[in-house]
Amino acid sequence: MLGKDEKQALIEKIFAFHTKRAPGIAIGVAMVDLALEKLGPVKDKLNAVCEGQSCLVDVLQNMTGCTYGNKYLRIAKDLGRFAFTLFDRYDGRGIRVYIDIDKIDAEKTPELAKFFTRTRSKEVKEGGPARAESAIKVMNEFDSVGEQIIAWYPVKVLNPEKPPMYPAAQCAECHESFLVLNQGETVCGACRGEIQYFVRQ
Ligand SMILES: [Zn+2]
Repeated sequence: MLGKDEKQALIEKIFAFHTKRAPGIAIGVAMVDLALEKLGPVKDKLNAVCEGQSCLVDVLQNMTGCTYGNKYLRIAKDLGRFAFTLFDRYDGRGIRVYIDIDKIDAEKTPELAKFFTRTRSKEVKEGGPARAESAIKVMNEFDSVGEQIIAWYPVKVLNPEKPPMYPAAQCAECHESFLVLNQGETVCGACRGEIQYFVRQ
């Protein structure tokens, strides 16, 4: 497990990477630290599944080397939970870590309770100094309870193996290289009109 100074230095590093001093980062560092300890050594590559698109993604990427780019990190975006699983790609043996909301005492740690229920004040939601103050409150309250609110259990990840490698082809229309997800495709998703995220100016 990380020492106090080591943990603080890591939190600062991830704040910089994330470009925001999000309190979820301090909480996430404690969660990932715990998961790494519980999982122990792996036989193949360490992999992760993050259960939402949140600052936890950046914590996982920094602490585990599982990144979206190297495909060791998957994001189950639509789950929207502040939780993740670290697992061994060899056999899917994993540890799922989450926040036990029932263990958060709204009287003793009110800002922390509001953080996880997204009920912080309007001023906080708008950003600025109120948000920065709230972030410090959330982190201080978390420090006072720490691991008491972090829960975990062992899991076996389904389909832990490496994702398939798709062949590439030159699109018959735009002439760019694209990955052929379905055998026989000769035109990329953009030229098929199926995937559009911009209009050309
Ligand atoms: Zn094309």
